[in-house]
Amino acid sequence: MTAGFLKVTCNDCGSECTIFSRATTKISCLVCNSTLTSPSGGKANLVGCTVTETLA
Ligand SMILES: [Zn+2]
Repeated sequence: MTAGFLKVTCNDCGSECTIFSRATTKISCLVCNSTLTSPSGGKANLVGCTVTETLA
């Protein structure tokens, strides 16, 4: 499986950001500080955002 980047939209404030698909740390929204992903077995688990685009 190729690790890539995901363009996601925050569910709370709707701002877009780009995250690493295998992020191993918790990522918070830069705008509203809500949790976007939590690490889950070497793969980012999207908890507070929606993927809008998969980047190569
Ligand atoms: Zn947000």
